Amino acid sequence: MTDAAASSAPSLARLTVLAGPTAVGKGTVVTELRRRHPDLFVSISATTRRPRPGEVDGVHYYFVSDEDFDSLVATDQMLEWALVHGAHRYGTPRGPVQDELDVGRPALLEIDVAGARQVRRAMPESRLVFLAPPSWEELVRRLAGRGTEDSEEQKRRLATARTELDAVGEFDHVVINDTVASATAELERLMGLGS
Ligand code: 5GP
Repeated sequence: MTDAAASSAPSLARLTVLAGPTAVGKGTVVTELRRRHPDLFVSISATTRRPRPGEVDGVHYYFVSDEDFDSLVATDQMLEWALVHGAHRYGTPRGPVQDELDVGRPALLEIDVAGARQVRRAMPESRLVFLAPPSWEELVRRLAGRGTEDSEEQKRRLATARTELDAVGEFDHVVINDTVASATAELERLMGLGS
């Protein structure tokens, strides 16, 4: 999208996609953004992976069976979907996002790079934001530090992360997740939310 097209679009009603490599801190930045803007619509994804301890169906994700996921895709109810880390499928239910945009409110998706590409094709006016780590070493440190994946899973996620970092040029904006506060403020600015 050109700058002219971007600036003529109704900026508050645009769809913003936040993507970036594993463990870069997308979830933390989105949590902080929601704290600052409790009314902001953030899409709840459907996934075939099992809930982790503390995760609640309908809050963190819609946890669905393989069959249910197949049927959501077959009936065109997914705006995008992807097999993430070669393990489980994740997708954005189209209806709630469209409803929000139709009434002129902004919407935010936190998804992987493959999903972001699909959103770009389906909704070329969307704003694609890449959340990048300050450095590769820092990304490795964050993944190990969060302790939710065993070492095999960490290896798999870092392999995905390398290819995801290569996609940075496809995005409209890059936000470096140096500190949660600064990355959130930058995302607020890009979305026209004000602080
Ligand atoms: P986790 O299993 O750690 O919750 O998420 C793994 C990855 O799935 C994250 O990188 C996240 O961005 C991605 N993801 C979550 N929801 C969606 C979605 O709806 N679509 C796509 N394409 N990726 C998603």
